[in-house]
Amino acid sequence: MVRATVEDLTDREVHGRRVFVRVDLNVPLGEDGRIADAGRIVAVLPTLEHLRRRGARLVLASHLGRPDGAPDPAYSLRPVAEDLERRLEQSVTFIEGGVEGERTREAVSALEDGGVALLENVRFAPGETKNDPTFARALADLGDHYVSDAFGAAHRAHASTVGAAEVVKQRGGRAVAGLLMARELHFLDEALRSPEPPFVAVMGGAKISGKIEVVDAILGQVDRLLVGGAMANTFFRALGLEVGRSLVEEDRVDFARDLLERAGEKIVLPVDCVVGYEIVRDTETRTRRRDEIGPNDRVGDVGPETLRMFTEEVHAAGTVVWNGPMGVFEVPPFDRGTREVALALAHATDAGTVSIVGGGDSAAAAEAAGVADRITHISTGGGASLELLAGKRLPGVEVLEPKAEGER
Ligand code: ADP
Ligand code: MG
Repeated sequence: MVRATVEDLTDREVHGRRVFVRVDLNVPLGEDGRIADAGRIVAVLPTLEHLRRRGARLVLASHLGRPDGAPDPAYSLRPVAEDLERRLEQSVTFIEGGVEGERTREAVSALEDGGVALLENVRFAPGETKNDPTFARALADLGDHYVSDAFGAAHRAHASTVGAAEVVKQRGGRAVAGLLMARELHFLDEALRSPEPPFVAVMGGAKISGKIEVVDAILGQVDRLLVGGAMANTFFRALGLEVGRSLVEEDRVDFARDLLERAGEKIVLPVDCVVGYEIVRDTETRTRRRDEIGPNDRVGDVGPETLRMFTEEVHAAGTVVWNGPMGVFEVPPFDRGTREVALALAHATDAGTVSIVGGGDSAAAAEAAGVADRITHISTGGGASLELLAGKRLPGVEVLEPKAEGER
């Protein structure tokens, strides 16, 4: 279902009104407490600019880390408020002291048209992750309308992602998607329902276990599923092959065998791999055919012949979706397969393929390969993107209004 967005709000609904915006400003912090990657802040700017230009008074809410329902200075959003201020070139009122406090109400009523306030970490309140109705009402008290641009948090039914939106709607306000949320839903949901064929999925990463539902759902839709990463080792075991000292999930071998029986013609497994005795930086490596993996080998990456096959499949794709690195990409030289797949996606996209990347590590790998701006869409939501790919509904999306007929 297509959701209404901020663009569907009328000027009357927006101008001079308080708009509560749930954003995902859960940025990674370095050891010095500084923002290590501002990607998530940058990603919500278009929505904020859009609303601000139209004279809305913005009350932003986000979580940061897992502070366990109590204030914890290590998870303060203050550095984010300062960063946001620089990027918006406008002052951002940082509101501490609890959502229900008098100061909060005063700070929000002091906002001018186009003004911006950011609440301190919503997870400092115990009611947030419990979706506590009283806390949800307190959040809803701060906005006439509700906007969600927090795709990365939309798989959680929390007070700021679901409860507050429900209260706003009950009170006659609107609950719509921000521009980032709309884009995520467009590519991860709508586009994948009617993909340009051939539809190719590339999956990898450490474990099948966390992705069984994704693999299952995606196998029903794609023409080809290319498997790399440690996930491939479990398939190797299903073929009766030796994997030596590699990471493998013995308790998922039956699942892998079942997939091969059900859809073997769609599944493309690596034919060769890069192995080492240990997966450590700059270690000595060998390329092995998959039926030549020795008892002392650890598989750290897919091999060159596999990369040729995968690259060809990606180039031929009308739509390609990628989740999960091909190897231990954090540890060179085992980063090659992942980088080459990222490059293959970029080349294919240059030639007209729609490419979509989901998953935190895969997104980081696409960035590291320097091709992020040549991919059609890189999701900002790790867990949320996987749940959508698995065909699940996200509570933080379901709560948003459907687009009305005339708005399409
Ligand atoms: P994403 O975040 O994109 O969904 P995952 O979290 O599922 O990806 O997987 C990423 C992890 O998989 C990385 O830390 C990487 O080191 C690991 N990985 C990939 N291939 C292998 C392998 N052959 N052996 C061990 N770990 C692997
Ligand atoms: Mg990951």
